[in-house]
Amino acid sequence: MIERFSPSGTLLSMHTEMITTPDLAWQEEALCAQTGADFFFPEPGSSVRDAKRICALCPIRSACLEYALSNDERFGVWGGLSEKERLALRRTAH
Ligand code: SF4
Repeated sequence: MIERFSPSGTLLSMHTEMITTPDLAWQEEALCAQTGADFFFPEPGSSVRDAKRICALCPIRSACLEYALSNDERFGVWGGLSEKERLALRRTAH
């Protein structure tokens, strides 16, 4: 079941639209819910520096990154890491 509990157009709403598990209470503290999703899902080749700055201050960064790695999220910045950085992390973990 898809659950939405944040304003549409925010990163959190984009994330939750892709999530199918109900155990998502940690996402209620997501800083990205207070910003525009554009930072976190930039056009190819665009900077992710602003998204990373927000993630660095986010209280649930570790849980977010763990979720993204566990669910093989391929797009956007999650837990302070870009798509390429998460891919590299997955490769070194195997
Ligand atoms: S770590 Fe970044 S992407 Fe993850 S919830 Fe926090 S602000 Fe959003």
